[in-house]
Amino acid sequence: MGVELKGVIILQNCFQCALGKPLGEGKGVYCHKFGRLIPPEDAGKEWGCNYFTEHIPEEGFTSLQYLLLKENEIASKK
Ligand code: SF4
Repeated sequence: MGVELKGVIILQNCFQCALGKPLGEGKGVYCHKFGRLIPPEDAGKEWGCNYFTEHIPEEGFTSLQYLLLKENEIASKK
């Protein structure tokens, strides 16, 4: 799956998510939305998480700011 961004395919998994903090090789990802460790065997899969958030490096957002933006985006679609 993934999405194309500027000619590059971005996988929508926890390792690529702005709400996830990779914990190092073989250790998975800490998810700031769900407050839990996503083990490496799950973190690399694209399983359609509604909270997947693309990084916007030029904005310099914190994880909390990304989370608030995503919560607002989802709430505005209801
Ligand atoms: S918000 Fe979803 S995609 Fe992002 S790190 Fe958490 S579980 Fe993974």
